[in-house]
Amino acid sequence: MMMVEKKWFIGVDLGGTTIKLAFINYYGEIQHKWEIPTDKSEEGRHITTHIARALDDKMEELGLPNSHFIGIGMGAPGFIEMETGFIYHAVNIGWRDFPLKDKLEMETGLPVIIDNDANIAALGEMWRGAGDGARDLLCVTLGTGVGGGIISGGEIIHGTNGMAGEIGHITSIVDGGVQCNCGKKGCLETIASATGVVRTALETMDEHPEGSLHKISGEITARDVFDAYRAGDAHATEVVNFTTSHLGLAIANLANALNPSKIVIGGGVSKAGDTLLLPLKEEFDKFALPRVKEGADFAIATLGNDAGVIGGAWLVKTKLMQKS
Ligand SMILES: [Zn+2]
Repeated sequence: MMMVEKKWFIGVDLGGTTIKLAFINYYGEIQHKWEIPTDKSEEGRHITTHIARALDDKMEELGLPNSHFIGIGMGAPGFIEMETGFIYHAVNIGWRDFPLKDKLEMETGLPVIIDNDANIAALGEMWRGAGDGARDLLCVTLGTGVGGGIISGGEIIHGTNGMAGEIGHITSIVDGGVQCNCGKKGCLETIASATGVVRTALETMDEHPEGSLHKISGEITARDVFDAYRAGDAHATEVVNFTTSHLGLAIANLANALNPSKIVIGGGVSKAGDTLLLPLKEEFDKFALPRVKEGADFAIATLGNDAGVIGGAWLVKTKLMQKS
């Protein structure tokens, strides 16, 4: 029998365009990582076969048997039934009523545990990233949408039917908000996502004919807005103030309920670093209770695209190993 500490975990992070795969050791260190394209043809029915084949090929290349691995932890987008690893609906992939866990277990011969992609990214940051061992952690991902993961006492909060942590769909604008992908209007996602920041900037361009954003050739990005803000542009300052006031309010409201020790901001918009964090903390401080504020540290996510596979490995370590 091989010592359990010598065995590895497999992390899989399924996205709309690529599938990230990694072999990760007992301590959460990536040993090998690679990507394959996501084949969405025929409602995504080939995806599990492609994952199994990619894992087999890599194991063969490295001369490692299946028994070297404890299991697979996988993050997937969409609505997931946690107990069974059944995907009700994953719009980006094409899956509807897809038995992901069962299929992947059958094809790989390894035990599989599934969670939502935003949740496993939060677990990754808790274990090896900006969470720095914090057990009460709020993760907010500002990308094309706004995702979230809430960890309380070291465990992801799923809620009664898996919807907990949908921070992006907290209502920010009660009246007259922009239409959100979820069907509601005025969600935080319509303001604080990269898409939202750009929309706010474009909508207010005419009010600032002298603004530096007019000088950008091609399409404006969220990064352009934060760069212009850093350079003191009045228009960009208005956009960033609007964005951070809504984001700071939403995070403070969540923090007042959850009392986290770490608030980790990730995703493309977080690359702005302190240019985002400083005005965000100012807004947060207005609405968080004094002791909540004292207890909570803000940090920018550090794992980038590796957060998902490392969180998958954490799930294997904490959920599958207990059973074996
Ligand atoms: Zn929404």
